[in-house]
Amino acid sequence: MTPTPPGAAGISGAPGASGAPGASGAPGAPGAPGAGGLSAEHEELAKTVRRFARGEIAPVIGGYYENEAFPYPLVEKMAQMGLFGLPFPEEYGGMGGDYLAFCLALEELARVDSSVAITLEAAVGLGAMPVYRFGNETQRRRWLPDLCAGRAIAAFGLTEPSGGSDALATRTTAVRDGEEWVVNGSKAFITNSGTDITVFVTVTAVTGRRRDGRPSISTIVVPSKTPGFTVAPGYSKVGWSASDTHELAFDDCRVPLDHLLGEEGRGYAQFLSILDEGRIAIAALSVGLAQGCVDECVRYLGEREAFGGKLGESQVLQFKVADMDARAHVARLAYRDAAQRLVAGRSFKREAAIAKLTASDAAVVNAREAAQVFGGYGFMNDTPVGRFYRDAKILEIGEGTSEVQRMVIARHLGFDRPR
Ligand SMILES: Cc1cc2nc3c(=O)[nH]c(=O)nc-3n(C[C@H](O)[C@H](O)[C@H](O)COP(=O)(O)OP(=O)(O)OC[C@H]3O[C@@H](n4cnc5c(N)ncnc54)[C@H](O)[C@@H]3O)c2cc1C
Repeated sequence: MTPTPPGAAGISGAPGASGAPGASGAPGAPGAPGAGGLSAEHEELAKTVRRFARGEIAPVIGGYYENEAFPYPLVEKMAQMGLFGLPFPEEYGGMGGDYLAFCLALEELARVDSSVAITLEAAVGLGAMPVYRFGNETQRRRWLPDLCAGRAIAAFGLTEPSGGSDALATRTTAVRDGEEWVVNGSKAFITNSGTDITVFVTVTAVTGRRRDGRPSISTIVVPSKTPGFTVAPGYSKVGWSASDTHELAFDDCRVPLDHLLGEEGRGYAQFLSILDEGRIAIAALSVGLAQGCVDECVRYLGEREAFGGKLGESQVLQFKVADMDARAHVARLAYRDAAQRLVAGRSFKREAAIAKLTASDAAVVNAREAAQVFGGYGFMNDTPVGRFYRDAKILEIGEGTSEVQRMVIARHLGFDRPR
């Protein structure tokens, strides 16, 4: 199924439908790529989400942002549209679309607002996806229907207060005790971990030692409100102010043994693969922000007057916006290439890293340039461009910093691990 605007009746075929996130439409079939490499259904999805973002998010998001409030009514509308189930098979309550469809939705949301976009990205890419990718059939049937319906959201806890890039340095532990895991430790900066509809956080924890002395890391589902699991008050952030982010503490927190996702000791490989995919999604979100800057500048330069004419008559400013558009376009090609490789079952790790590095840079530069084009208004919190400026920086940090992306690319070039 394809996302339906809230209140609309018609539901058409899913972009890239046919099961697992990864499946693509056959050439020539409905859903085969049309102009620009997107299928007609992908194009339709993008248009539907664009209309929703402009019509329903744009008018109200400023208030949530300013009050640092989670936008529950918007999340509910996205749930009605089916966006939380977009890349999952229908048998689990999903829309049967593919990962590219998910990225297109993120791009269109972020073109208007990044808090809403990251809420969807983290709920789907980090919350539900590990259950789909690594959970057994019982776990999938238990957790995915609510997550796909957007009645509930889940979070992914990898980063710790002592560090995020060096994930092997995880300090959180989970020890078997009878029929339970006993989890101790803490996680930092975890998106979607403290909302009223958060049902669980998947945490990475050391569950033993390998023969070579390295930690054996596993992935464990910790339901919200489990005794010993504390969610700290939300951070006050520079950007993404209408999204939900908390530090978490686990103090002798007990969960059943069947809350282990996948094989014990496979947690490191699991979260690396989740992050590889997630980088494409963050790249899509970055492209949305970069393009949103172009949209706003074109509009503003057509209205604003100075020195007896429209600012848009200045070639200096035209060139500035032309460069912004070029940056967004190149970054879009990079993330769509990575997403299409993922969907086709080809290797995509290098391309995902390149997409995230390129797109986050485009977002940061475009946000800075857009603020300049807007002059004083670009420095105001209540303008979209002011929010774009605040929201852009985290794109170079979350789900692997730009330095981490360069490490991934360098390894693909054959360089040894640096000392
Ligand atoms: C708003 C927000 C939401 C987030 N959501 C989540 C979430 O849902 N789940 C989750 O698990 N995490 C989340 N994070 C955490 C995020 O992924 C980490 O902040 C990020 O991975 C970087 O880790 P760190 O902050 O510990 O920085 P560090 O790892 O301490 O790095 C600090 C700096 O050193 C650089 N650096 C580190 N090692 C090297 C090296 N070997 N060579 C060169 N440079 C290096 C880094 O690139 C960075 O610039 C979120 C963060 C924020 C701010």
